[in-house]
Amino acid sequence: MSTSSTIAAIATPPGLGALSIVRLSGPESRTVARRLLPSRARRLLEAGRIRFFSSFHDPITGERIDEGLVHVFVAPESFTGEDGVELHGHGGRIAPERLLAATLAAGAVVAGPGAFARRALLNGKLDLLQAEAILDVIEARSEGLHRQAVYQLAGALSRRIEELRRTLLETLAILELQIDFPEEEAADAAQDVSARVRSVREQVATLLGSYAAGGVLRHGVRVVIAGRPNVGKSSLFNCLLGEERAIVTRHPGTTRDAIEAEMSVDGILLRLVDTAGIREARDEVEAIGVELARRQLEAAQVLLIVLDGTVTVAPEEERLLEDARARPHVIAVTKSDVAEGDVYDYCCSYMSKSVNGDQSSEALARPIQTSAVTGQGREELLRTLLRAATEGVRFDARTPALTRLRHKQLLESSLPPLDRALEELGSVRAAPEKVAADVKDAADAVAGLLGAVTSEDVLEEIFSSFCIGK
Ligand code: GDP
Repeated sequence: MSTSSTIAAIATPPGLGALSIVRLSGPESRTVARRLLPSRARRLLEAGRIRFFSSFHDPITGERIDEGLVHVFVAPESFTGEDGVELHGHGGRIAPERLLAATLAAGAVVAGPGAFARRALLNGKLDLLQAEAILDVIEARSEGLHRQAVYQLAGALSRRIEELRRTLLETLAILELQIDFPEEEAADAAQDVSARVRSVREQVATLLGSYAAGGVLRHGVRVVIAGRPNVGKSSLFNCLLGEERAIVTRHPGTTRDAIEAEMSVDGILLRLVDTAGIREARDEVEAIGVELARRQLEAAQVLLIVLDGTVTVAPEEERLLEDARARPHVIAVTKSDVAEGDVYDYCCSYMSKSVNGDQSSEALARPIQTSAVTGQGREELLRTLLRAATEGVRFDARTPALTRLRHKQLLESSLPPLDRALEELGSVRAAPEKVAADVKDAADAVAGLLGAVTSEDVLEEIFSSFCIGK
């Protein structure tokens, strides 16, 4: 990367804040920074000081524009692996922009999105999984995804993938030996190859199994609130969000559109959707709202059915309960502060008809009495929603979860060649050339996760550690 340009960007978010950082990376970083500094600070820079306080100046007019810390990074000991400088000036609207403009006037070029991480990748400071993890650490909206991303950034997933790739490359080396020296200990070698390929196949399957958990961590779970108008859906929605309300968006369209908000419960993001009530529409606008609500219900991962505890259950509610049987759902009976309990009793007897003695779904299916006025049942409802949202999803602390479709697709694409290789190995006269081609394909797919293709040099490196004709 010695021929690369020197890039500059504001690394902190826009808005008012005490400090802001302008970051430089590239061979000319110190030269660029030097042009912004007064002579005393230039001497410090030239003497090799890596951190000092200074004023910052416009490199053309000499005007003093700010003051702050200068951090110097020397290649390869930096995030990007290149020489770099950070200028810590003041925050706000004007100061960071002026400081950035000064670095550009001094010879830096403006950095594109992700340019620093890309350089880190090119210089081998990170692999692609870790580069993706940086983005997740920054963008995570739930503690669960954040925790997973920090783990991935530290290389947990990379190590697993690297191991798989290494095993496949070693397998390839054994196969090459078989091709070159077919008469030597062929049976032993074939067994060794089978065991390795089978082990990789199993580990790939385990990792793929973590994608469901990864999906829950990344996207959260969509909980759609359903019920007749005026049963207390919106009140319950607000009560659930309480202080933990994250983002509320009102979808444009009719006044009866859905409202969506997110909250994090035990590190898992619940995406609550409050819909228009389900009932026979009286006019066209309402018909649109009701139709939208039905579509929301279709897209729900968990249904939160809300019944009014003060009135008897209506036929459309019976239909709603009936339709919900086949999918993850939780029933809340609202207005418990004024309700008599008849609706709750009805729901309990309804549920007992549906659970067939299955313990876990029984616990899940038990209706919950809530009140938006007193907050009764809120905690229990949140816990039950979380349980419904994560039912059947295994969170395994020992397996770093796959959180991206890219990971899943690449790993999936390694399965057919692995299966073909196993099939060939199982045949009486297995052709090592055929097996080798499939193992190579699988290795390439796996390597794709790390952002690396299995180049000839890597193969050479691995093979050279083997002793030929031992
Ligand atoms: P939605 O149409 O289903 O969203 O129902 P709303 O949340 O707008 O509530 C309908 C009416 O029921 C309003 O007058 C609320 O004040 C009242 N309400 C909602 N929840 C409760 C509750 O838990 N207790 C009592 N006493 N009234 C409630």
